[in-house]
Amino acid sequence: MPIRQLSETMINQIAAGEVIERPASVVKELVENALDAGASRVEISTAGGGLNLIRVTDDGSGIPEQELALAIARHCTSKLSDDVHDIRSLGFRGEALPSIGSVARLSIRSRTASGDSAAEIGIDGGRVLPVKPAAANRGTTVEVRDLFFTTPARLKFMKGERAESSATSDVVKRIAIAFPAVRFTLAGADRSTLELPATSDTPEGRLARVAQVMGKDFPENAIAIDAMRDGVHLAGHVSIPSYTRANALQQYAYVNGRPVRDKLITGAIRGAFADVLPRDRHAVTVLFLSLDPSTVDVNVHPAKADVRFRDPGLVRGLIVGAIREALAGAGIRAATTGAAGMMAAFRPGAAPYSHPGPANGHRSYEAAYHASGSGGFDPLRSAQRPLDMGEARPHRNGFADNEQAAFDTGPLASADARAGTAEPAEPLLGMVLGAARAQVHENYIVAQTRDSLVIVDQHAAHERLVYEALKNALHSRAVPSQMLLLPEIVDLPEEDAERLAMHSQTLAKFGLGLERFGPGAVAVRETPSMLGETNVQQLVRDLADEIADNDTVETLKERLDRIAATMACHGSVRSGRLLKAEEMNALLRQMEATPGSGTCNHGRPTYIELKLADIERLFGRR
Ligand code: ADP
Ligand code: MG
Repeated sequence: MPIRQLSETMINQIAAGEVIERPASVVKELVENALDAGASRVEISTAGGGLNLIRVTDDGSGIPEQELALAIARHCTSKLSDDVHDIRSLGFRGEALPSIGSVARLSIRSRTASGDSAAEIGIDGGRVLPVKPAAANRGTTVEVRDLFFTTPARLKFMKGERAESSATSDVVKRIAIAFPAVRFTLAGADRSTLELPATSDTPEGRLARVAQVMGKDFPENAIAIDAMRDGVHLAGHVSIPSYTRANALQQYAYVNGRPVRDKLITGAIRGAFADVLPRDRHAVTVLFLSLDPSTVDVNVHPAKADVRFRDPGLVRGLIVGAIREALAGAGIRAATTGAAGMMAAFRPGAAPYSHPGPANGHRSYEAAYHASGSGGFDPLRSAQRPLDMGEARPHRNGFADNEQAAFDTGPLASADARAGTAEPAEPLLGMVLGAARAQVHENYIVAQTRDSLVIVDQHAAHERLVYEALKNALHSRAVPSQMLLLPEIVDLPEEDAERLAMHSQTLAKFGLGLERFGPGAVAVRETPSMLGETNVQQLVRDLADEIADNDTVETLKERLDRIAATMACHGSVRSGRLLKAEEMNALLRQMEATPGSGTCNHGRPTYIELKLADIERLFGRR
């Protein structure tokens, strides 16, 4: 076949193949257009999962009658001046409307503020219909019928009405989070109506919109993030470690207001939560990155959901650092999961309690606790000699000697009654985790605060403390390394070898000693002792990949953290060990002082707090 120029319609259909994957992509493009037009109301309705009909109405600027034909012509846009690196609108490629028009029946009815009437244009499977007068208020209504009627092959890939409807809801929710001041409605016979009243473009307004979209559980179980580094600003919310999901779908990320699905951001979130969440759980996050538009490329894919950062290491570092700091700042707050469910289970006639699991999160949340206690107990040492310092230590935290004596006379399991009679000193009651009163079933510390009862899982708690201490030790000084008898040579592409060499100083700090070995190889002379016998080849390759992707060496740090976690698990006080009152109190104080101690290394809560008020209600006293 001779070479020939493709027809306009075929060019558009090819573009549609990339831009318009399914009905939700049409909705995304049309809603983006409405928002770019400055709309304050966007109404969407669909029929047949969007395959029969998609209609988007806005109250934005409208399109002048004489520009209607241009709007549906390829490569025509009102949004790009002459710098493709300075994009401040959601659209800029000028191909959504012609692409949609080539695979469906599209009509646009529009009226500008200055226009005294509306006009309408249509395009039917690529065939442009003449402009004609119409009746409409200011703004634009775009209707798309019979999507993919010109491309039956694409139609076969659709997943069914229900799945397409829900993909559309996801798209609308995702974008609505970034535009809190805009009112969105999504309706149709094929769905239940979604209504998102306008809030405002303030931190409170944004959080209120997040609550509309994600449910008010999330804000109640989230910590605010607000950090700035080298001109990049990160704001938003992340869930506390006991509020998680089984997949990463509830992670919303925005770059300069544009919803994105970005590997770097997802990876950074995973890294930030690596040691507070189990492998198979995911944090819930809403993160907004703002940076100079010229330092991020949004023109990576026609669907505009991918981005490339000029300095990926900076962005990753900012996200990981800000989230970790926020989690640490939230202290031991993350721990009342299950309390609500437990109370419900106690209620007479209630169904047997089954743990709701972290996925369900929980409702009642106390104000942020800020750890203030100071136990003298050194979990690092206790890895070898768990909590075994009772006699040797001076009494502290207000425990009077005679009260101590009561505990010291025998194992606590038999001392419950006596513990109950001795009134704990007032200051202890004011602490977040209160005063230890008893140990039951050889693993649960029962403590009392002024207005609640606290139950601590001593094994989980201690494991976390040991882990935090190990990690601190690990990252505050150089990680001990072991020399390899023979250096291990790892063959790599030259760029990878070069990248590794550039990071060799950081790697050495983590105990990995390597250097260039000819153009396409590195020689590894030392490995972190903690890793033991390790697959050096694999480790070095993973690191090279990560440096290429993100310009960091987090992988090694995360691996070492994971080993610290395993060591902590094995070195921690087992359930079944009897504790003295002062040992229990030391553990509680140490928990209060240790960020992240509200959950164990596996993401389970280390303690549960039952409010006295709830207990009283349980007994019908209130
Ligand atoms: P892009 O959004 O990349 O510019 P589109 O094909 O989506 O390309 O839209 C083409 C042009 O049509 C836009 O640049 C804009 O001028 C106009 N337009 C589309 N939808 C609307 C709308 N809802 N309100 C006002 N103008 C619109
Ligand atoms: Mg557009």
